[in-house]
Amino acid sequence: MSLFEEAKKYIPGGVNSPVRAFGSVGGEPVFISKGKGSKIYDVKGKEYIDYVCSWGPLIVGHSNERIVSRLKEVIENGTSFGAPTELEIELAKLVVEYVPSIEMVRMVNSGTEAVMSAIRLARAYTDRKKIVKFEGCYHGHSDSLLVKAGSGALTFNQPSSPGVPDEFAKLTLIADYNDIESVKKLFKENKDEIAAVIIEPVAGNMGVVLPKGNFLKELESVCKNEGTLLIFDEIITGFRLAKGGAQEYFGIDPDITTLGKIIGGGLPVGAYGGKKEIMEMISPVGPVYQAGTLSGNPLAMAAGIETLKILGEEGFYDKLREKSNKLWEGFRENCNKLGLKFAFNCIESMGSLFFKEGVVESFADAVESDTKLYATFFHKMLAKGINLAPSQFEAMFVSSSHSEEDIDKTIKIHYEVLKEMFGN
Ligand code: PMP
Repeated sequence: MSLFEEAKKYIPGGVNSPVRAFGSVGGEPVFISKGKGSKIYDVKGKEYIDYVCSWGPLIVGHSNERIVSRLKEVIENGTSFGAPTELEIELAKLVVEYVPSIEMVRMVNSGTEAVMSAIRLARAYTDRKKIVKFEGCYHGHSDSLLVKAGSGALTFNQPSSPGVPDEFAKLTLIADYNDIESVKKLFKENKDEIAAVIIEPVAGNMGVVLPKGNFLKELESVCKNEGTLLIFDEIITGFRLAKGGAQEYFGIDPDITTLGKIIGGGLPVGAYGGKKEIMEMISPVGPVYQAGTLSGNPLAMAAGIETLKILGEEGFYDKLREKSNKLWEGFRENCNKLGLKFAFNCIESMGSLFFKEGVVESFADAVESDTKLYATFFHKMLAKGINLAPSQFEAMFVSSSHSEEDIDKTIKIHYEVLKEMFGN
């Protein structure tokens, strides 16, 4: 019996998060035994260059020595106290220093929890109930947000889930990404009722889709004019596009920011932060309740601190950008050489190849992609030792541990695979 067959006997679908099951690309998922730097190894010892990077957190690669050694130091003193520790202050200080709009931050255990709490806070602060999200953006699986969602929900064609009461879903209004008119229309129809607009400033959960022109600026000003809070879900883009995330990159000042992935350096962490006046509505200072037995866990804090310190070093993002651009240019050249006109979107160290000709600037564009072609591409890359996300609607991530040699090898294999699929 394969490990997957065994896992399926005890765990629904054999996995603890749906996309891992290879549902949309077919076949059995690879079971991983270890990771080091840019590489992961399956249980049979096969090596892969990894561009999933645990779905984003591992911006400095697997088993980074500094993170591992700090974790070892911290674990010697215990794993959880349910009481405040200095580590929590250290990480909070770094977040406030790095992320321009954050004056105070609260740690939680996952991205889902961060977004769920941020929405509650926005509703309390504005005393309004409705929220606006964009079709194809994913903000975790809390009830209010699992409406027309991206990521695994989109991959499995379940963008809205049974079990979410209509009464909740009705409070979540849906706009089109990159279409400011669709937002203005919702504001007109729901005057003074919208607590918050939540957005992935660069969408990463319908594949990578970049904000066009002034879209984010216009969104910021619509929210200001309407007394609505702008929530940037930077769970992917935070510390990825720049030290200060997408808000630094695009010069936007959101009211609340949600963070996850990189902030935990590979351990389970989420966070939400923003202006002091808003954040001080949270318990125990204010009336908005939110809590967590393991929140601010010392191991998670230590991994986050070491990761953020590495990101703060001179030239970190320049080097990562250079490496990423080399890979993206290599991919584009490969497509050109083979006369392929597929859309390729990238920004800094995140990118997506869409099996759709022309551009992908919206959710409607993204879902026109040929997911069967993606499945073939994915399996051929995997067989040749390149690990990509098992879905068309996810990003690939470059880490600082990817070497020139990894990049060259990946470009070469990418060419071979596309040639096998489309060459004549
Ligand atoms: N928001 C965004 C933008 C995400 O990409 C994700 C996870 N991929 C989440 C929220 C939810 O985070 P988690 O899986 O840690 O609950």
